[in-house]
Amino acid sequence: MSANPHPRPSVAHSIAALRETVRQWRRAGESVAMVPTMGALHQGHLDLVRAGLARRDRVVVSIFVNPAQFAPHEDFDAYPRTLDSDLDKLAGVGADVVFAPSAREMYPEGFATRIVPEGAALGLETDFRPHFFGGVATVVAKLLLACLADDAMFGEKDYQQLAVVRQLVRDLNIPTEIVGCPTTREADGLAMSSRNAYLTAAERAAAPVLHAAMQDAARAIRGGAMIEVALAPARERILAAGFRDLNYLVVRHAVTLAEVKDPASEPMRMLVAAWIGKTRLIDNIAV
Ligand code: AMP
Repeated sequence: MSANPHPRPSVAHSIAALRETVRQWRRAGESVAMVPTMGALHQGHLDLVRAGLARRDRVVVSIFVNPAQFAPHEDFDAYPRTLDSDLDKLAGVGADVVFAPSAREMYPEGFATRIVPEGAALGLETDFRPHFFGGVATVVAKLLLACLADDAMFGEKDYQQLAVVRQLVRDLNIPTEIVGCPTTREADGLAMSSRNAYLTAAERAAAPVLHAAMQDAARAIRGGAMIEVALAPARERILAAGFRDLNYLVVRHAVTLAEVKDPASEPMRMLVAAWIGKTRLIDNIAV
């Protein structure tokens, strides 16, 4: 007997097959949520599925390691691919269908269109991964248009990406509501990430400092400290704990991601990206 209360989700490999499944649900009057992922699923992804099922009748999880969002020197080849165990995990939470296209299905011969997001995409991640949000925006637009779900669930873990996706859907009139979901963390505060699998034991032990240092800095800012005064010791602490390169630790406007002009009145978000060993980690919290 299976330990799972639900059957394994069926797998659609083509856009046509996904559309046919969604068409049948629609005919039965059912609503649909989509959860775009790159697989190597963890509890954070499963929480997105649960949030989707709480809002809608059916959930489609896409699993596609998108070559267009990796630069040649990045970890596209090394990125974990674990479809079999992903399907077991998704059965555990009751996802209905996995959309797992090949690169050829998403980018067939002759593919020649790319979305270039500006606004929320400028700065932060783009300063260090200039190709990244173009690749994300293009693939997310394709995934959303393939599924035409009522809702698409995205994690706050990738906070700038969430802002870029909201902007994309607004600007291109894609008829899917973007739903942001809180970051799922390990007990010690480390944000769950498929890339945490790259960490050595020593790096894993050091990694929670990102969250801890941000929390202390946010507390100081809430207590009236100047932003830069609060961030300086947090930067030192992160580097002292074993991170080798701090790409950024900043406070931005929580909606536009613009520089903060008036800390007293603006909603604020603290965002960090840093390298430990061979792994680049990102995280963010509300201030
Ligand atoms: P990825 O990990 O790139 O496959 O991300 C797929 C989706 O899962 C994105 O919307 C991420 O923001 C979201 N996600 C990844 N990690 C977490 C987490 N720890 N908590 C909540 N959502 C997450």
